Amino acid sequence: MNENALRLEGVSKTYPGGQANVAALSGIDLRVESGEFLIVTGPSGCGKSTLLHIMGAMDTPTSGHVYLGGRELSSLDDAALSRIRLEEVGFVYQFFNLIPTMTAHENVALPLILQKRSRSEVRSRAAAALERVEMGRRLDHFPRQLSGGEMQRVAIARALANSPGFLLADEPTGNLDSSTAEEILGIFQNLHAQGHT
Ligand code: ADP
Ligand code: MG
Repeated sequence: MNENALRLEGVSKTYPGGQANVAALSGIDLRVESGEFLIVTGPSGCGKSTLLHIMGAMDTPTSGHVYLGGRELSSLDDAALSRIRLEEVGFVYQFFNLIPTMTAHENVALPLILQKRSRSEVRSRAAAALERVEMGRRLDHFPRQLSGGEMQRVAIARALANSPGFLLADEPTGNLDSSTAEEILGIFQNLHAQGHT
């Protein structure tokens, strides 16, 4: 059995509602092997974001189990879950979620600083991550000075900075025009070809 797999067993998620509860996920069994490239599709409201947040240790299921690298997530305390979010999972959002007052380089450096890496390592790893998404020449640009596609490249570099085992992306091309969307999808395909999950 591959200890690096991400595994969901009977995962359900119910949101409490005023009139009625919303069953966002019910009985999901899913196994993602290291190196796999998986795309989840479905109409708005079908539970994709809920699924990704649970896979990324950002939310917890109402019932069922999530295993990451052989550990059951519900058995971990907040500090351990924070560590997983910081070091083992990279997350890319539809609306980029860059910090507007920080440059591209500072946005990518942030997770490295939180990991208490040395200044020189922060600088070199952030620059290398931006290089991988062909943003090596935009280090000092603020998000407002970048196009949508460029902002998403920076957000991907930030997700890659700590070399996570998994990269999760929630509608990463949903806010981009179709040719830019293809470029961003191409980046994910390249990362997959390099062994990323
Ligand atoms: P998708 O990403 O596929 O559009 P979501 O996972 O965002 O779907 O939502 C699945 C369902 O759960 C929807 O019916 C949505 O309204 C509901 N939902 C999502 N988040 C919450 C929340 N925080 N509170 C209550 N209901 C929610
Ligand atoms: Mg969604």
